[in-house]
Amino acid sequence: MDLFEYQARDLFAKHGVPVLDGAVIETAADAAAIAERFGGRAVIKAQVKVGGRGKAGGVKLATDPADAVAKAEQILGMDIKGHTVHKVMLAQTADIKEEYYVSYLLDRANRTFLAMASVEGGMDIEEVAATKPEALAKIPVDANEGVTDEKAREIVAAAKFPAEIADQAVEVLKTLWTVFIKEDALLVEVNPLVKSGDGKLIAIDGKVSLDANADFRQAEHEALEDKAAANPLEAAAKAKGLNYVKLEGQVGIIGNGAGLVMSTLDVVAYAGENHGGVKPANFLDIGGGASAEVMANGLEIILGDPDVKSVFVNVFGGITACDAVANGIVQALALLEEKGEEVTKPLVVRLDGNNAELGRKILTDANHPLVQQVDTMDGAADRAAELANK
Ligand code: GDP
Ligand code: MN
Repeated sequence: MDLFEYQARDLFAKHGVPVLDGAVIETAADAAAIAERFGGRAVIKAQVKVGGRGKAGGVKLATDPADAVAKAEQILGMDIKGHTVHKVMLAQTADIKEEYYVSYLLDRANRTFLAMASVEGGMDIEEVAATKPEALAKIPVDANEGVTDEKAREIVAAAKFPAEIADQAVEVLKTLWTVFIKEDALLVEVNPLVKSGDGKLIAIDGKVSLDANADFRQAEHEALEDKAAANPLEAAAKAKGLNYVKLEGQVGIIGNGAGLVMSTLDVVAYAGENHGGVKPANFLDIGGGASAEVMANGLEIILGDPDVKSVFVNVFGGITACDAVANGIVQALALLEEKGEEVTKPLVVRLDGNNAELGRKILTDANHPLVQQVDTMDGAADRAAELANK
């Protein structure tokens, strides 16, 4: 989960990374009192989860409270690379002498953590990496050792940070590492980390991405979620404990096992090429259990997606055998009808693996008017795509 800048700022402040005072507003008029509190001047910053706000006009300096209201008005509602600005952060102004760059991230390719640092801060770091790669220091960080004094000094030296800020930079790097580890982040980035007029280092802009796999031990992270931006179907699926991702297509997908579901998406996309270009509408892995309740929950989410025109249930019976899954489907359809949720979209079911014969018989005997069976994955994908294109 990517955070807004103001949330990153809050996490930095919590762990002791030096930041300036800031406040978030959604109404321009509220800017006056905050600017007043900051002594009149304030930086007004669009809160959108996309970089390059400065260049896009989303970061403006206000010289007095009335100006702060005017600038907030300009920025609220602005479109920055397809993101509408609903919130702005007012921050105390900094007297910037130099701008640096520091970050930690998970380096999947090298199976380690990576520190990056540069004296070329403030600008787009991808551009620095492309045009002046020698100016971007990259230092691996061992997960077990973390950022010790020694490691921090190695990063500072590799980035060629000036001697007069070296000790402060070491402290910032160690504290930022605490943020990275304690918050279970996949990325923490400060750009720019500035040297102010009085020689102090301050994190002016922060980017943090949190690892959702650690949600179970990060109770406070749930509050950081941007509920307004969440897809309502994904939110409903999450509330039911389902592993669901909304996609753009028309064929609803239910399968057991992430690998099978992934390959089902590929097969449906491929079959769709012969049927008007229809595509999978979602990823949904109902896992090993596939009880009637889980099946009903899954069907409810998928049938509730107005984009869905047909559903492909692709199950390979393993520990949970196909007869149990078939009973699950029959009971799920009955459950939905009991709840008054009329099922009107065709279901194509492919059962294979453990007890497939019995499972198929259960569905045949149930004789539900909207359920069709196809015994092969390719054949079922083709049928589902054909039905979605009707
Ligand atoms: P980004 O464009 O989304 O990365 O937004 P930043 O918060 O990094 O701001 C972009 C640039 O605006 C920074 O690199 C600074 O040069 C400038 N800036 C931001 N805050 C201040 C401030 O308080 N004072 C001054 N003078 N410049 C600022
Ligand atoms: Mn920035």
